[in-house]
Amino acid sequence: MQPHDQETFRPAIVARLEAIKVELVDLSDSTQPISPDAAIGRLSRLDSMQMQQMALAGKRRLEDERTRLVEAQHRIDAGNYGRCLLCGSDISAERLGYQLDATTCVPCLNRRK
Ligand SMILES: [Zn+2]
Repeated sequence: MQPHDQETFRPAIVARLEAIKVELVDLSDSTQPISPDAAIGRLSRLDSMQMQQMALAGKRRLEDERTRLVEAQHRIDAGNYGRCLLCGSDISAERLGYQLDATTCVPCLNRRK
């Protein structure tokens, strides 16, 4: 993939990183430690802790995605974005369109299954 074509994916990566930042801020309230006497409205302490666990899992997923997207940006900087890490061929633009942080082409992905 030519550097010019790689650059066309950068705005989408930047936009997704911005969206992740907003989602992480939204989640930060829900991931605070629950105080021992927390009983907010109809929520029991157990409910609160379950919601916190879900929020923490969501936060981890977003942080992992953020890491992969930052790495994708570095690959654009280095000029090897969109190249399969396993076989070195170009990853289709269609695949990158729905998975911006893809590091393998579809044939290699299928081989690993
Ligand atoms: Zn491949």
